[in-house]
Amino acid sequence: MADTPFLDGHNDFLLRLLRAPAAREQTWLKGDGTGHLDLPRMRDAGFAGGFFAIYVSSPHEADEPDYQAMMDSPPYDLPLPALMSAEQTQSTALQMAGHLMWMERASQGALKICRTAAELRACLEAGTIAAVMHMEGAEAIGPDLDALYAFHAMGLRSLGPVWSRPTVFGHGVPFRFPGDPDTGPGLTDAGKDLVRACNELKIMIDLSHLNEKGFNDVASLSDAPLVATHSNAHAVTPSTRNLTDRQLAMIRESGGMVGLNYATVFLREDGRKSTDCGWDPVMRHLDHLLDKLGEDHLGFGSDFDGADIPDVIADVTGVPALINQMREHQYGEDLIAKIARNNWVSLLERTWGE
Ligand code: ZN
Repeated sequence: MADTPFLDGHNDFLLRLLRAPAAREQTWLKGDGTGHLDLPRMRDAGFAGGFFAIYVSSPHEADEPDYQAMMDSPPYDLPLPALMSAEQTQSTALQMAGHLMWMERASQGALKICRTAAELRACLEAGTIAAVMHMEGAEAIGPDLDALYAFHAMGLRSLGPVWSRPTVFGHGVPFRFPGDPDTGPGLTDAGKDLVRACNELKIMIDLSHLNEKGFNDVASLSDAPLVATHSNAHAVTPSTRNLTDRQLAMIRESGGMVGLNYATVFLREDGRKSTDCGWDPVMRHLDHLLDKLGEDHLGFGSDFDGADIPDVIADVTGVPALINQMREHQYGEDLIAKIARNNWVSLLERTWGE
């Protein structure tokens, strides 16, 4: 067991269960050696908890170019996928919420879905993995918002109004490098209603993937701290998905939080996807985010099982090596504990209430 337990702002593990349902016991309980996460590796690494995303991917087009290859040879500007309706996405979203509930049952006490900050603290105390049910892109919530109340009752406590796709609520940024996050219009009226409903239910609102006008709309409407669960510094890597210094200042001002994303396309200064980048880009982003956000507003937001990540991290068992890099980089133990877990705990206390 690693000596520094950590919380994590974003993973796509539920997608792996969705894609191979027959193998789920192997995938989750034993591990099949693929991907970034499974229960044994999480325990080894000190994964104390994190946000598990319900995310419905867009259908592939028959004549679609190789977007993954394009993202390894910048500049690139990927088109936004088509809008998806609640009818198209709701059954998959429901299935994925069910997968997380299955994980809780199958792990026999090793993982618990947390609905309150008190439950989160109790899990950390007991060494139980604390799962937060998150939805990345609110397509499965129709514009009448009724499904939001249903998912909240299932345990949903965090929601990103958009993934990188237009929705009835607002617009995600296209994957573009170089590019800035000001890529289109802000929230729709339904999007503003969604923000108010999340505030009322104390569902955390995630700004990762939202364009700059949408970010500004949430900032002026929401009564909660501003959070980007898995985004990096635009000043270091000028991707549409990263946060400008102005956005970082607004997040800090609101008492919010940024989770460091390990995806190489958002870490490398050249914007490439290749994973042979060493620690340098990781530490550059951490230093810049720390400089702009201060010690209390930065954490991890891995994007495990959703992105290509540096070879030096490789999977969840590489996080202790990241923490060692922080030590070698003269980050003190108090600061490391804040980044690794305490800041996420405090942020969720501020957002959800005690
Ligand atoms: Zn994402």
